[in-house]
Amino acid sequence: MFFIFGMSSKEKRLDFNQTIVCPCCGSYGGLKAFMTYNYFSLFFIPLFKWDKKYYLKSTCCGSVYTISKNIGESMEMGRINKIDESDLKVVHSNYRGIKKCNNCNYPIESGFEYCPKCGTKL
Ligand SMILES: [Zn+2]
Ligand SMILES: [Zn+2]
Repeated sequence: MFFIFGMSSKEKRLDFNQTIVCPCCGSYGGLKAFMTYNYFSLFFIPLFKWDKKYYLKSTCCGSVYTISKNIGESMEMGRINKIDESDLKVVHSNYRGIKKCNNCNYPIESGFEYCPKCGTKL
C-alpha cells in the first residue's frame, strides 16, 4: 500500500470587509481578513487543519492586525460582520510618519521630543 502524505500551509482570504478608522494611521480604510493554517493531507485531500491564525490587513497603509481565535472563527463562519477596533492587535504597522503620545494619544510628527499637547517626554 502506498500513501501520499502531505503537510502544507495555506492562506485563505475570508469573506469579510469592514471600513474603519485605521488605528495605525488614523485615516479611513478597509479591513480585509485572511486566515492561515497548516493542514495534513492524504492523497491530496486535506484531512485536518490546525494552527489556524486569523489576521486583518488594512487597505489604507497596509498594516497587519491579529484578532483572537474566537472572533476569527466567528468571522470565518460568517457569524459576525463587524469587529471592534479594540479587538485588533497590531502586528505590523507600515505607518511611520506620525507617532502617538503614550500619555494622551495626540499624534506627533517625528522630530518632537516632547508632546506638544501634554508635555510628556516621548
Ligand atoms: Zn492605516
Ligand atoms: Zn501627550
